[in-house]
Amino acid sequence: DPVAGSVTQSDALRTLHRVFGYDAFRGEQEGIIEHVVGGGDAVVLMPTGGGKSLCYQIPALVRPGTGVVVSPLIALMQDQVDALRALGVRAGFINSTQDFDERRVMEAEFLAGELDVLYLAPERLRLDATLDLLSRGRISVFAIDEAHCVAQWGHDFRPDYLALSVLGQRWPDVPRIALTATATHATHREITERLGMPDAKHFVASFDRPNIQYRIVPKAEPKKQLLSFLKEEHAGDAGIVYCLSRNSVKKTAEFLCKNGIEAVPYHAGLDGGTRARHQSRFLREEGLVVCATIAFGMGIDKPDVRFVAHLDLPKSVEGYYQETGRAGRDGAPSTAWMAYGLQDVVQQRKLIQGGEGDEAFRRRAASHLDSMLALCETAECRRAQLLTYFGQEAGARSCGNCDTCLTPPETWDGTVAAQKVLSAVVRLQRERGQKFGTGQIIDILLGKRTAKVIQFDHDQLSVFGIGEELAEAEWRGVVRQLLAQGLLAVEGEYGTLVLTETSGSVLGREREVRLRKEPKRAPAARASKGE
Ligand code: ADP
Ligand code: ZN
Repeated sequence: DPVAGSVTQSDALRTLHRVFGYDAFRGEQEGIIEHVVGGGDAVVLMPTGGGKSLCYQIPALVRPGTGVVVSPLIALMQDQVDALRALGVRAGFINSTQDFDERRVMEAEFLAGELDVLYLAPERLRLDATLDLLSRGRISVFAIDEAHCVAQWGHDFRPDYLALSVLGQRWPDVPRIALTATATHATHREITERLGMPDAKHFVASFDRPNIQYRIVPKAEPKKQLLSFLKEEHAGDAGIVYCLSRNSVKKTAEFLCKNGIEAVPYHAGLDGGTRARHQSRFLREEGLVVCATIAFGMGIDKPDVRFVAHLDLPKSVEGYYQETGRAGRDGAPSTAWMAYGLQDVVQQRKLIQGGEGDEAFRRRAASHLDSMLALCETAECRRAQLLTYFGQEAGARSCGNCDTCLTPPETWDGTVAAQKVLSAVVRLQRERGQKFGTGQIIDILLGKRTAKVIQFDHDQLSVFGIGEELAEAEWRGVVRQLLAQGLLAVEGEYGTLVLTETSGSVLGREREVRLRKEPKRAPAARASKGE
């Protein structure tokens, strides 16, 4: 063919055509691959679905020797290896799921130079035996997948990753490529430092996922809200529903099934066989819904996931972005839907306070949560806020494809309402030496003579009945937003309300409190669909 003959194709492009059957590189892939094939180190930040795998698989094929891929996703290694073998790539893995003989076969193939790609779990690299094995073979490139796991500031720290700095020291001539789909500036810097890659070239793709519509609705009856969201907008679609606990995973799956939606549960408490069966049904069948804890989804490559729903608040924006990013890898319109309410804030704050870890750990967790809450409470474009969080310029102040852009929320001056809540908390504490949770505080403000109000004589307080201008749901919105803004805090096992250092500025009228008006109903779904 004279035309093709006149064009000199790079080895990388030829491999892309021949092995993977794709026409062209996407986005930054070409630059990354050329750089690594040429022997350079690279740090790659690319959103889920961006095409990170080819960035190390092609250098592994083009350069002489075996590409060693470090990945924490042990459960997926077999699938990844099978997929590569189906393309004719000589791939293998070494991890703890193998028996002695299987491992011996892999080791022998590696040493004989018969592997293009070898997947390894990070904990393997803490073993001298593994390092010795690698020293006796020929390595073309080291790929460090899910590289954010090395960052202690990040949301998914894994101590085994710290040992990976040894790779650069022992194999200074082998290029390394670190890849992640989650990277704030802080995490990015930590990856570069801890992996010892000061000379690496950095490739940062846009984190925008324009085909994903972001929506966060006020939580009232979450399972019912989910059901109508699915029926109205995603009937027959495949999707993931994330819940915090195993129990709510189970209940949600049962609820959906009872209401005519095919759903299966997935969490770490199910036996391995059931988990594998549900995962493979999700990958193979059309329109199956998986209700899962966050144990589900890492590395799962299903292009046509049409929605990701959260019934509970993720612990960080990184987590939220990663989980929602599993929707719409094929580029078609998809929805990231979340129900969020007061109880989420109380629960997460309690978890952090009562949780394990030292003070620094708690501070970090609290700061992650604060960013997540800010995203939930914003009256501005959610996409713009997400991108700003990842240190990227948003294309426009208003994306037109998130709930706050589609139905801009009203804000109001909630200073007086905030003062009323805080006064009630102060009165109880100063005059009675008591602390109570949200329910009691709101009953007092509304002037409700409930059994508990009578029992504690709370109808005698001067703040009793001073808040009749707002409905109960509105008061819950006020409390939630005060908690989110750090103007109020929860304490102890029962989540009692207490003041914070900044509460005084509101009580002393030094500070205005702007609040988001609670929508009467969830933002109309149809507004987003029909043009
Ligand atoms: P990531 O690891 O970044 O989440 P993957 O490497 O799994 O993304 O790629 C996502 C999807 O895009 C996969 O189905 C992959 O085969 C496909 N893909 C990647 N690069 C290309 C390309 N250059 N052309 C066509 N499809 C691609
Ligand atoms: Zn928007």
